[in-house]
Amino acid sequence: MAGVNDDGEGRPDESPAAERGGSPLTPAAASVALDGVGKTYPGDGGSVRALDDVSFSVADGEFVCLVGPSGCGKTTLFRIVAGLTEATDGRVLLDGTEVTGPTTDMGVVFQEYHLFPWLTVAENVGFGLERSDRSPDEREARVDEMLELVGLTEFRDAYPKSLSGGMKQRVAIARSLAVDPDLLLMDEPFGAVDAQTREMLQRELLDVWDSTGKTVLFVTHDVAEAVTLADRIVVMAADPGRVREIVDVDVERPRERGDAAFAEYVGRVRDLIGAGP
Ligand code: ADP
Ligand code: MG
Repeated sequence: MAGVNDDGEGRPDESPAAERGGSPLTPAAASVALDGVGKTYPGDGGSVRALDDVSFSVADGEFVCLVGPSGCGKTTLFRIVAGLTEATDGRVLLDGTEVTGPTTDMGVVFQEYHLFPWLTVAENVGFGLERSDRSPDEREARVDEMLELVGLTEFRDAYPKSLSGGMKQRVAIARSLAVDPDLLLMDEPFGAVDAQTREMLQRELLDVWDSTGKTVLFVTHDVAEAVTLADRIVVMAADPGRVREIVDVDVERPRERGDAAFAEYVGRVRDLIGAGP
């Protein structure tokens, strides 16, 4: 990978955020480029064209949301970018290198938390570090830093079953960041929590993004969520899943839902989603 993360190791002491006494994550971020991505699922009752000729890119450190109606191929696209599903056509480039399978350069967060119920919060967060060449002490320090970042220090020895949905998703986010990925890839990560928790997690995610400079590609069907978070919104259409339009959100953060500009963007994106084929 390009950037300061060349050796694959986080070097917290070199990060400007660490100098400020802030996040220990490196400021390395990656660009993503989708080039003519298509996906056809074979099926008994005929094949499904889930994605057709999807092309867009995400710049270093940019926050891009992908929105669209249910079934338009968002999860399929997320899985293709993550290297979990193979595209039928086209390719995905991460900093210019084709994605051919899962990589620790990406931190992946799913809607279902995918926590290991038999591991504590700290063990879940440290899971991805076990294969790294950090010493046990270094790993533990890293886990503590991540727990602090998401405000879960006092729950480090708790088990997932005793946590609320919002807390579980914080654990999942901490786990995805622990390996210091260049890209954070999220599929409806706040879909299972109540509205109030959801807005809190959105603010926290923006803080993490702000302090780490990571590139984020965030999938949601919630238009207000996309307008809250994104620099740009990729609006998709269904049958077949494709890019309808890319909307620049030109509103300063933090964004207020009550503002006229906010409502205008929400209306515009909803119109695009509701527009015919
Ligand atoms: P979204 O996340 O936007 O709701 P998905 O990517 O889950 O959309 O699905 C897009 C389309 O592909 C849908 O028609 C869905 O039924 C189909 N699909 C998704 N996953 C599979 C699969 N593993 N096998 C067959 N069809 C699938
Ligand atoms: Mg989905």
